[in-house]
Amino acid sequence: MRAVVKTSPGPGAELIDKMENPRPGDGEVVIAVAAASVCGTDAHLYEWSKSAQDFHPRLPLVMGHECSGTVTDVGPGVSRVSPGDRVAIETHLYCGHCFECRTGSAHNCRDLRLLGLTTDGVFAEQVRVPESACFILPSTVSEDTASLFEPAGVSVHALQRAGSVAGARVLVSGCGPVGLVVVQLCLLFGASTVIATEPNPFRRRLAEKLGAIAVDPLQASAEEEMAAHAGDRSGGVQVAFETSGAAAAYPLIWHSLARESTLVTVGHPGAEISVDIARFVNKRGITVKGIFGRRIWDTWEQLLALVESGRLDLSWIITHRFELEDFKDAISLLSQDAAKVIIYPNGVPA
Ligand SMILES: [Zn+2]
Ligand SMILES: [Zn+2]
Repeated sequence: MRAVVKTSPGPGAELIDKMENPRPGDGEVVIAVAAASVCGTDAHLYEWSKSAQDFHPRLPLVMGHECSGTVTDVGPGVSRVSPGDRVAIETHLYCGHCFECRTGSAHNCRDLRLLGLTTDGVFAEQVRVPESACFILPSTVSEDTASLFEPAGVSVHALQRAGSVAGARVLVSGCGPVGLVVVQLCLLFGASTVIATEPNPFRRRLAEKLGAIAVDPLQASAEEEMAAHAGDRSGGVQVAFETSGAAAAYPLIWHSLARESTLVTVGHPGAEISVDIARFVNKRGITVKGIFGRRIWDTWEQLLALVESGRLDLSWIITHRFELEDFKDAISLLSQDAAKVIIYPNGVPA
């Protein structure tokens, strides 16, 4: 089969034409990848940034982690998934035995393997995963939309962690796909005002189309603009989401949070961040909550329910489509005017 493989530490990756097809072991299935969505993490891995290296990738490695596809083969002991099932894949491959797995936090398993980071991923014609990573799709969900469930699930998890946003003034830092879906969900869940910060004008326009007030965080007046949109009465936003992973985003967030507000951190900054805990956390009574991945499977089920109801449309996020061999163009688009870029390892559908 063909696959995009990170072969050595340092920037780059290569298309390998004749990789051995994966065979399912005990409890494993093989999936023909239909649509694989490109994520910022893939770009970090491609560029070999510090935040990618911090995941300790095992090379050589097939890249990619967000996908939908069809089960083609199942190994011994597989009982829940059958050939022909259409699935999306949970990328946090959990052990099922550790304390976290046994107490409802399998997404944060102590022995976590990460698809496309520590085990072979989905920028390939086929991928092998444990049966336990499969989310079986109803026929109502397209393969394009299903390939977005992994990243959109991060957005849903961020909302689950925040608690209620009903009636709240909200800040969403970063308008990449995860941030944009957070904007969508906040408005769907009844936020009164959503202010989205993003340096890229193309992405700011996408946020505005969804109904957010978009602010360029790099302009000199950003702090005053934030304060004006949040209004005088509350003294800031009641809930903030950081989705960009940019360390530089934090000063504006600390200054924009109202007293007794909640900050949910989603993006991984590639460096440590210093914060005046006394001033910005203790004395303001701020709650900071981190999230990693999606809750298995309640986040997925909530996302599916929202999509199936028609109240959450994700299809508009896909701005570009590529064949597998054009993966370099697909990855480089992430830093340009794009939202979600999809690679089709078995060919772009007509
Ligand atoms: Zn991702
Ligand atoms: Zn575990």
